[in-house]
Amino acid sequence: MKLCLFDRWRVGIVGDDGVRDVTSAVPGHEPDPTSAFWVRLCRDFEQLRPRLEAVAAEVRPVPLDQVTLAPPALNPSKIVAAASNYGDHVQEMAPRVPDGWMLDFDTFLKAPSSLLAPGGTIELPDVGDREIHHEVELAVVIGRRARDVDEADALDHVLGYTGLMDTTVRGGGDRSRRKSYDTFTPLGPWVVTRDEVADPHDVDLELLVNGQTRQSANTNHLLVTIPAMLAHASRILTLHPGDIFATGTPAGVGPIVPGDEIVARVGGVGTLTASVRARTPQAVAAGHRPG
Ligand code: MN
Repeated sequence: MKLCLFDRWRVGIVGDDGVRDVTSAVPGHEPDPTSAFWVRLCRDFEQLRPRLEAVAAEVRPVPLDQVTLAPPALNPSKIVAAASNYGDHVQEMAPRVPDGWMLDFDTFLKAPSSLLAPGGTIELPDVGDREIHHEVELAVVIGRRARDVDEADALDHVLGYTGLMDTTVRGGGDRSRRKSYDTFTPLGPWVVTRDEVADPHDVDLELLVNGQTRQSANTNHLLVTIPAMLAHASRILTLHPGDIFATGTPAGVGPIVPGDEIVARVGGVGTLTASVRARTPQAVAAGHRPG
């Protein structure tokens, strides 16, 4: 099933002929961006699935171009992301980090407030002579709470998969700032539930800027597998329903500038697009001292 959020936080099932509004099957739904209905839907999806399907069978589809998709995440407790998880990307970054600090697998957090809807606009802060880069990634959406899980059981905690762009200011300083500016995390276009992804380690990733391919890879090149990453993360912090886990980016990252149009294709999931413009008024620059 392809599950989406659209218009004013309505819940839809996406098919070849459009979006079917199944909001009436979602317990406790309210058209409110502070609501927890989506988190509960992620948690209770298997039990709710028959109701969602029953409503979908009764309603007419609305063509995709007549709805406004929202990111398929609403009030996640966190976005966890993997660093250094493709060998070719680690190699391309090595000259930029002479002390080698980023060459080992690690996880970090991105602020949920950085989420951006499919087709949205990434707003670039003024970061002086630093570059702001695109990164395309396969993202995991958590269904069942995961704490201290084993690799063998880790995928049981996954609701499904979606696409993610981990927009990043290169250079020194804390990752949580460099990757958390508002609009820096385009997500979507929807969640494809786990049963419809035959093998998450065989997903093609491609990212184009203005029609030119910048990144092209397959998740079979992940250095740390998805179950291993989830198990590892779950021993650090509890993964909650609705949380997003970004699995890392392959080689080919590069700068984006105002006016760019980005297309990210995630095999078996869908296509996520974003435009780029300068942020107005400007965000605080790196190194800015408050007060
Ligand atoms: Mn990344």
